Amino acid sequence: MKSSNQSPNPPISQSTNIPTYSIIAPIYNEVKNIPELYRRVSEVMENSGESWELVMVDDGSSDGSTDLMRKLAEKDARVRPVIFARNFGHQIAVTAGMDYSRGEAMVVIDADLQDPPEVILELIAKWREGYEVVYAVRAEREGESWFKLFTAAAFYRLIQRITDVDIPLDTGDFRLVDRKVVDVMGQMRERHRFLRGMSSWVGFEHIGVEYKRAERFAGETKYPLRKMLKFASDAITGFSYFPLQLATYIGFVAAGFSCLAIPVVIALRLAGSHAFYGQASTLIAVLFLGGVQLISLGILGEYIGRLYDEAKGRPLYVVRDAPEE
Ligand code: UDP
Ligand code: MG
Repeated sequence: MKSSNQSPNPPISQSTNIPTYSIIAPIYNEVKNIPELYRRVSEVMENSGESWELVMVDDGSSDGSTDLMRKLAEKDARVRPVIFARNFGHQIAVTAGMDYSRGEAMVVIDADLQDPPEVILELIAKWREGYEVVYAVRAEREGESWFKLFTAAAFYRLIQRITDVDIPLDTGDFRLVDRKVVDVMGQMRERHRFLRGMSSWVGFEHIGVEYKRAERFAGETKYPLRKMLKFASDAITGFSYFPLQLATYIGFVAAGFSCLAIPVVIALRLAGSHAFYGQASTLIAVLFLGGVQLISLGILGEYIGRLYDEAKGRPLYVVRDAPEE
């Protein structure tokens, strides 16, 4: 897989100690996966024929992952651990990995080996052809619950419909991103991050490579329903105003209905009908509109809370300890 000098994205860092490739792995309590991740990534990257580094971001692990990363780094200088002061979340961990990586191309990969490191070579091949973002598309998924598959499918399709950026279906964060794109993403310091949306937003040439998503090598998912919902709402609020406009649409429909209802009720009364008398219909209308109003307020709240977070301007993450240069 050694590249020719004519390739559109040539390595410019062969002679220095700056690597061509940075593999970024966010890690939250993955002690059983780290040795296998290191083994498979090094095996694959040796085959790339070029220099590489493995940036492991410890997102506040408490199971011994941190020590294991430090030990690996002592043995192999290509392993660069970035240790967070606490858990900041997957998307922030990947962001830190990008901030600390020095390569010409970055590959974001899950530490649980659901994204097979062997696919990295295919991503690299496309990068060599000149694509700046090479995302891996999940053609098949092993060992995931029907609930996860269904919610993921619904989520990707909803995002596709209501956001203005073109986010390819069934892609995760497993992708190769050129330094040019990473540099722009690094300037986008929004706190509620949806990285795959951000990398589409930046632009440049994108292409997908299909792969079979494997089962977790060891351990449990670190994305419980609560985190999945937060992730989904970050994605939607980060890239769409649609939820805010929803109140306007519902308002027009409700107002339209009531305008139609007024002559109907008057006509019924004149005809001597007893329809729409009594508390029940009043109560239903009040509860319905009250509910719609509260939901709309809640949606406003989601955006205002995010605005408030941005206004505070806190750092995205706090690092306990990281490689020096
Ligand atoms: N992860 C993280 N911080 C978190 C949750 C997850 O760094 O708060 C890491 C995790 O260690 C893994 C990757 O993000 O390397 C993907 O997480 P997971 O495999 O649990 O998600 P799933 O594949 O189930 O969607
Ligand atoms: Mg996983």
